Amino acid sequence: MSLDAIGIFGGTFDPVHIGHLRTALELREALGLRRMLLIPSARPPHREQPSVSALDRLAMLAAAVDDEPGLVADGRELRRGGPSYTIDTLAELRAEVGSATALCLCVGMDALVTLATWRRWRELTDFAHLVVAARPGWQLPSRGEIADWLAERRCDAVSLLHGQSAGLVLIQTLTLLPVSATQLRADLAAGRSTRYLVPDAALAHIRAHGLYRSAAPDHKSIQNEQDIR
Ligand code: ATP
Repeated sequence: MSLDAIGIFGGTFDPVHIGHLRTALELREALGLRRMLLIPSARPPHREQPSVSALDRLAMLAAAVDDEPGLVADGRELRRGGPSYTIDTLAELRAEVGSATALCLCVGMDALVTLATWRRWRELTDFAHLVVAARPGWQLPSRGEIADWLAERRCDAVSLLHGQSAGLVLIQTLTLLPVSATQLRADLAAGRSTRYLVPDAALAHIRAHGLYRSAAPDHKSIQNEQDIR
């Protein structure tokens, strides 16, 4: 049996950059995913709130992946109230796709080490597989509750992800690009170029709406999801 599979790549995307996009694309190919959903967190529960609105972050993402059919900007977390918990997103997606589709929640190693702070984290694999994008040489947590939980679910072959719809953990080694949104926000605020790190279409949105400037409020920030396209 080989199940259809969909990937989920969440983040703040403040702003989206080539590190996110290359990782999403490479994971989609390596895992044989029909599509990869990129889902901006509207109100991330575990970190400072992003510096620009969720609608602007979604618009930048939508513009960046517009010409890549395998990557889809998905605004579902903007349509829910309260903090954006991944477990709620997975439950919603599972209800939509039914039990005959594998879901693969893809996270970076930096996200994995904070896993035990996520709401109902042990239940994540009830709804999806967990795929961790790791740099060559990165070590998984080797002891503690996350390590024990991972060891019980760990698998080493992509093909196994297509044999059941949820429940496994795969570590996928990728050559991650050393780009960070934190650095890009600092560059944009200081007037330095971020070209070739932030996709041109997202940069056009940043310029058109005056985002990430150090002073002036971003009065042209998007207020309605219909305005995104
Ligand atoms: P910030 O600097 O604001 O924390 P970020 O780019 O590191 O931003 P997010 O936008 O929240 O972080 O990241 C979303 C997802 O992308 C996370 O799973 C994170 O591990 C991953 N990610 C972040 N930067 C990279 C990168 N350079 N290459 C691959 N994956 C990345």
